[in-house]
Amino acid sequence: MNLYTSISELPKIGPFFSKKFERLGIYTIKDLFYHAPSKYLDYSLVTTINQLQVGVPATIHAKIISLKNIYSKKGLRMQVGSVEDKTGKIAVVWFNQPFLIKTLFPGRFLSLSGKVSFFNNQKSLISPDYEIITNEDSPTTHTGRLVPIYPETSGLSSKWIRTKIKEAYNSIEKIDDILPEKIRKREDLISLKKAIYNIHFPKNLKDVEKGRKRLAFDEFLMLHLKGLKRKIKWNKNKAISNLKASKSQINQFIKSLPFELTDSQKSSINEILKDLSKSTPMNRLLEGDVGSGKTVVAAVGAFVTFINGFQSVIMAPTQILAQQHYETFKKFFSRFNVRVSLITSTIKKVELGRSDIFIGTNALIYKKIKFDKVAYVVIDEQHRFGVEQRANLIKKSAKDSGIGLPHVLTMTATPIPRTIALTTYGDLDISLLKESPKGRQKITTWIVPEEKRQKAYEWIKKQIKENKSQVFIVCPLIEDSETETLADVKSVKSEFERLKNIFLEEKLGLLHGRLKQKEKDQVLNDFRNKKIDILVTTPVVEVGIDIPNATIMVIEASERFGLAGLHQLRGRIGRGTKKSYCLLFSNYRSGRAYSRLKAMEKTYSGFELAEIDLKMRGPGEIFGTAQSGFPKLKIASWSNYELIKKSRKVAEDIIQNPLEYPKIINLIERYLHVA
Ligand code: ADP
Ligand code: MG
Repeated sequence: MNLYTSISELPKIGPFFSKKFERLGIYTIKDLFYHAPSKYLDYSLVTTINQLQVGVPATIHAKIISLKNIYSKKGLRMQVGSVEDKTGKIAVVWFNQPFLIKTLFPGRFLSLSGKVSFFNNQKSLISPDYEIITNEDSPTTHTGRLVPIYPETSGLSSKWIRTKIKEAYNSIEKIDDILPEKIRKREDLISLKKAIYNIHFPKNLKDVEKGRKRLAFDEFLMLHLKGLKRKIKWNKNKAISNLKASKSQINQFIKSLPFELTDSQKSSINEILKDLSKSTPMNRLLEGDVGSGKTVVAAVGAFVTFINGFQSVIMAPTQILAQQHYETFKKFFSRFNVRVSLITSTIKKVELGRSDIFIGTNALIYKKIKFDKVAYVVIDEQHRFGVEQRANLIKKSAKDSGIGLPHVLTMTATPIPRTIALTTYGDLDISLLKESPKGRQKITTWIVPEEKRQKAYEWIKKQIKENKSQVFIVCPLIEDSETETLADVKSVKSEFERLKNIFLEEKLGLLHGRLKQKEKDQVLNDFRNKKIDILVTTPVVEVGIDIPNATIMVIEASERFGLAGLHQLRGRIGRGTKKSYCLLFSNYRSGRAYSRLKAMEKTYSGFELAEIDLKMRGPGEIFGTAQSGFPKLKIASWSNYELIKKSRKVAEDIIQNPLEYPKIINLIERYLHVA
């Protein structure tokens, strides 16, 4: 048995329990060891019956004198009895566990942990944790120590998990430490074996900390190694073609744009152009806050691809966004004779003859379109796609071309700090759009309580009349789900009807995910063409929608959204040069949801909000990582930058000097499979 042995090889774990463990993400012994407790019950005070104090958690070792089932007046089944040790006797009581009397019969030794309190005016141990021991000095697992409480699932209690971890720990011959002593010393890390022991069988909380640090280090190290290995693998590929363009050709395109590029856009474009000119395929992530102008950067790549006689593919997560990109690209390329096609599951607008740019949803992957000349692939809002979809799109162009891989640009607005990006996107080169386009004004954000609702509506009417403002009114989803339910549609519809009676002179539109594609396009086009003043919508507008003339964003029940969601929604306005306003309707006056809204009032930058989110939630999930397909960390925390950086250095060293790390190299070759 080693760390990578399947847990099904442990005694008494058949397919039945394996399935349950799988639900906790546990497949191997290693996974089991990495299943860290969520907390510990302090039962470490082992004492005698005469020393027990009311209200203080403690453990005693005692013999059962009696135990029987009785019924209370209300018909509740109770198990009552008493236990004794050398120093005295005490009553015990459990509720609704009639089966106990079958195993806890008089004469047996028990270790009991819990608090003493009064039951029927008698000092008693009420519902204590217990385990049967052979004699008074037997070692204990579930009592008499810092007892770990694990994340559980139905049919897998902490008690059961504890037993299995102990069995696994005792039956594993050796836990090979992959980290050389030298590094452990330098990074102040304890051995792997000790770390596992410390987490599951700690003497004190300091032990736990040391154990967690070591396991967290390994967790990050593996993520880094995976990324670096993927990078090496990617770099062994040949690009379908290298793509080159002269300065004057590029300038021709850039000059045709209706705006000046920002410095970050320019440098990102240069990085991309350099990548494209190589015979190794590009694999780059373009990271930029909402509204920072990622689309045009991607378009320059498509232009160069076109000049070289190849095709581009742009994949977006929603039909609405694909449609929008289609319009944008057609505009960008109108004077260059570039043929743009839109491909989604319901529509296929293919320009006559061949296309130069395919834009679409994931329908691009499964629709029958030949990708024999696709050399450049863009994946927008990549966190909305699974790893597999991304891989499949790339594979499709590779297969159809039969030559190599396309150049790939992935884009995201998730404001992840570089340090964190390196763990998960270690195989990607990163370009960053640091600033937003010139002329953008800060978005003024207000929290609006119910009593100011009417005033807010009056103000909106005035803005529409005097400034030709356009307005989003977003209703949250009722359930916390990814997609809209019929109930959501009903509620947004009734809000729409209600608002029609308030905004009598304004033109209102309704948008939700269950409209037919044609209807969605119609509504959005009407909004874009200013035929609609107020768009009442569900959060379907969250991703990517770009309507620069929309300057007011109203979010109903805004406390229901997380910071990432609020930031994305607010990112729908302030995209032009007009002053924009975000109204957060909410009645909350305190609590965490309210602090989120307060943060929105004060801060605009996604990166800053991410920092705030980190502080507010503590060292747990970070802004956006939950939604962005980031791996769930078992022990480590995304907020531990120090550890991320240190493990990164070690990972790089391992890849550069493999001979010095034979064990790790062996391990990653055998167990770390990268796609
Ligand atoms: P995102 O990064 O959120 O995808 P978009 O690419 O949709 O942002 O760009 C947001 C808006 O800003 C669009 O209307 C786009 O035309 C405009 N834009 C992009 N770059 C610039 C720039 N350098 N100057 C002014 N406006 C720009
Ligand atoms: Mg975008």
